[in-house]
Amino acid sequence: MAELIQPVRGMNDILPDEEALWALVESAVAELFERYGYRRIRTPVLEKTELFRRSIGELTDIVEKEMYTFQDRNGDSLTMRPEATASIVRACLSNGLLHNQQRKLWCSGPMFRHEKPQRGRYRQFHQINIEALGHAEPEVDAELIVISARLWEKLGVRMVLEMNSLGTPESRTNYKRALVDYFGKRRSDLDADSIRRLERNPMRILDSKNPAMRELVAEAPVLADYLDSESRDHFECVKTLLSDVDVGFTVNPRLVRGLDYYTRTVFEWISDALGAQSAVCSGGRYDGLVSQLGGNETPCVGWALGVERVIDLMRVSGWDGGDTGPDVYVVAVGSEARRKCFSTAERLRARVPDLTLVMGRPGGFKAQLRRADKSGARYALIVGDDELAAGKLSVKPLREDGAQQLVDFDELVTRLGREVGTTQ
Ligand code: ATP
Ligand code: MG
Repeated sequence: MAELIQPVRGMNDILPDEEALWALVESAVAELFERYGYRRIRTPVLEKTELFRRSIGELTDIVEKEMYTFQDRNGDSLTMRPEATASIVRACLSNGLLHNQQRKLWCSGPMFRHEKPQRGRYRQFHQINIEALGHAEPEVDAELIVISARLWEKLGVRMVLEMNSLGTPESRTNYKRALVDYFGKRRSDLDADSIRRLERNPMRILDSKNPAMRELVAEAPVLADYLDSESRDHFECVKTLLSDVDVGFTVNPRLVRGLDYYTRTVFEWISDALGAQSAVCSGGRYDGLVSQLGGNETPCVGWALGVERVIDLMRVSGWDGGDTGPDVYVVAVGSEARRKCFSTAERLRARVPDLTLVMGRPGGFKAQLRRADKSGARYALIVGDDELAAGKLSVKPLREDGAQQLVDFDELVTRLGREVGTTQ
């Protein structure tokens, strides 16, 4: 036998049995975002490498170690997107969507990061992003956070919200100096990554995943002591608005986020039910990014959630697969009956548009009925010699008591239409 081809490490197949939860998350998100006036955008999976270098930042884990970057046949350096915000901003600029306009957008799709695969951490994973571009007002930071809180309610999961303000790049200058001073004095305790980041990007040290760095980070100066007054007011306003609508949060002065483009508000939704990968959804304000990518100064805010982690959390919270069988499973014995059923099934699908109807494989009556039951279907639609002779069909309830009944086609349409909703 030929050798089996293995999947790429850290890249998962999402199988039909998992589909119900994925579909549920996707439809909940689409409905909710539309209600708040956010419109969907889809961008390519591949972008010029330069886009991510310039936006996420050279000295970040993503750009230094995690990107899938390669040269295409023209010798251009391309990267499989590790996140979506940079692509969305690029798409807005490429298509002139920000000319004197605000945009409220969302998108969804696979992201790629070469990380060590483990629970909740994959090399292809899926994010849902929501972004408000051209909005400076703290109401929009609060609106986006409220939307995420409403999504958790819809999905029946619980998490805690941590927030911080990173201030403006200018206000961070003094803070960075204090960090360089603090970590510089403890240089011998720093790991190699942190030493490299010490001079050019000391805030990254605070975001280190290395447990050995934790104590050192815990004692470091906090940004809140260096915040400019406008950022402080902005943050106070976001907090007040959240309190007004009963969205709880804690301020975590150590929260800095792993991408360089954030300013002012940053936040993370965290669960303690997911093991080491506790961050489910994270985001913040990125007022400098659009101009960094060649556009005009445009204040923006947004967040991204990891779909795999949300679904993991839904399972932990008691959701089962949510998978149900079809409405109808067709059992037909004999070639004439099978031929008849093929066209009957098409007519039924046309008359009852929401109906899910599965044609079973050929076989003996008992074997087919067993398969019908195993499929989880609500009804078996049976056609054999008797039905053919009578010009009728038999319906047998599979999930509740009730006798098998001989009905004609119109009766069947009425009955199934009543069960599943619409009829045409
Ligand atoms: P982490 O701290 O867990 O590495 P992150 O800060 O790198 O997360 P973001 O870049 O903010 O994550 O991405 C937003 C969300 O995407 C995360 O909160 C998480 O739910 C999800 N996510 C990030 N990386 C992965 C991954 N490798 N596999 C699965 N989900 C991921
Ligand atoms: Mg990460």
